[in-house]
Amino acid sequence: MTSLDTFAKEKLKPLADQGLQRHLQLTERTSGGKAQRDGRQMISFCCNDYLNFTHHPKVRQAAKDAIDRYGAGSGASRLITGNHPLIAELENRLARLKGTEDACVFSSGYLANIGIIPTLIGQQDIIFIDELSHACLRAGSSLTGAQIVTFPHNDMDQLQSQINLLRPRHQNALIVTDGVFSMDGDLAPLDQLSRLARDNDCWLMTDDAHGVGVIGHGEGMGKGSRHMFDPLPDIPLQMGTLSKAIGSFGGYLCASKPVIDLIKTRARSLIYTTALPPASVAAALAALDIIETEPEYCSRPLKNARLFARLVSLPEPASPIVPVIIGDTEKTMKFAKLLEDDGFLVTGIRPPTVAFGTARLRFTFSAEHQEEDIRALTTSLKKHGIV
Ligand SMILES: *Cc1c(COP(=O)(O)O)cnc(C)c1O
Repeated sequence: MTSLDTFAKEKLKPLADQGLQRHLQLTERTSGGKAQRDGRQMISFCCNDYLNFTHHPKVRQAAKDAIDRYGAGSGASRLITGNHPLIAELENRLARLKGTEDACVFSSGYLANIGIIPTLIGQQDIIFIDELSHACLRAGSSLTGAQIVTFPHNDMDQLQSQINLLRPRHQNALIVTDGVFSMDGDLAPLDQLSRLARDNDCWLMTDDAHGVGVIGHGEGMGKGSRHMFDPLPDIPLQMGTLSKAIGSFGGYLCASKPVIDLIKTRARSLIYTTALPPASVAAALAALDIIETEPEYCSRPLKNARLFARLVSLPEPASPIVPVIIGDTEKTMKFAKLLEDDGFLVTGIRPPTVAFGTARLRFTFSAEHQEEDIRALTTSLKKHGIV
C-alpha cells in the first residue's frame, strides 16, 4: 500500500468507528416527489426541489430547447466566451425578483459564496456570522483573512455586544446569515439584523438558498425570506441558489450596480470557472416564470410542512424544512433506515453537518406531496416511536 492509501485509511478509520463515514447512495429521482432506490419506488421527504421544478414539463422543455439551440455546455468562463445572452436575461429577472439594481449569476451557490465574500472583505475587516450559517458562507469567510466572529444562533443581544466591542477596531464589517436556516428551517430576524447593520455601519448579507420560491407574504410570495417582514428590511447583499426551489443549477448575488460591477471584475470563483450550461439557465428562467405567476403553487410546500407539523404536534414551521432532533447519531441513522424500509426517503443529518448531539431527521416538503403521503409518513413515524 502506498503512503497515500495508508494516510487515507488511517484518516477514515476513526470517522467510520463513530458512524461518520459517508456513503453515496444511488437514487433516481422521478416526478411528484418520488424517487427510486434499490429498484424500489419511494416517496422522498429529503429533496430541496421544493416546487418539483426539476421535472416540471415547462422547465424540462426549456432546458431541451436550449440544448438543441445552443448546445450542451457553455465552452468557457463567463469572462471569455461563456457569457451566453440567456445569462444576462436571467440576471435581469433575478434582480427584478429580489428588487435590486443588478445581479450576478455564478456556476453554483457554493461558488457564489466563496467568490462574493473575499471580494468585499479583507484582512483589516471583520465578519460576524451566525453559528448555524451554511458551510460555504464559512468557507468564503475563511478566504478573506479577516477576523471572523461567530454569534450564537439568532442571538441579537450577543451580536450587538460583539459589534460594540469589535466593530470600532476594523475598517469594514460584514454580517452574514442564512435567510432560512438549512438544517433547522427557521428564519433569521432580518428586521433586527438590518437595523443592527445600519446603526453600526455593517454590510448585511443573506443566503436565501431555502427561501426563494417558497416563502414570502402576499405580493412577495416566492420572493424569499426578506418578504416575511414588513416593512421590507434593507439587505444590500442577497445571495441564493438556482439549485433548490428553482429546480436547476447555479447561484447568484443580487445587489447594487457598483457591487455587481466589482464582483464581476474580481470574484475568483466567477472568473476562473466555466459558465453555466445554457440548459441550466433556460430551466431557471422557465422556473422564474412560474414563481412570478403562480403564488398559490409556491405556497404549497409550506402548507404541507405545516400539515405534517400539526399531525406530529411540532411547533408551526416557518419554511418547508422540518427537523426532528434525535440527538444520537446511530439512532438517527437507524430511524432513517426504518423509514426507508417503509418507503419514505428521509436523510439522517449528522455531525459535522450539525453539532454533536443534535443529529436529526430532516424532512422537507414539496408542492406535489399529497395529503395521503404526509399522513402515511406520520403513521410510520408513530409506529416506530420516532415522534
Ligand atoms: C445548498 C446551499 C448552498 C449551496 O448552493 P449550491 O447551489 O448547491 O452550491 C448555499 N447555501 C445554503 C444555505 C444552502 O442550503
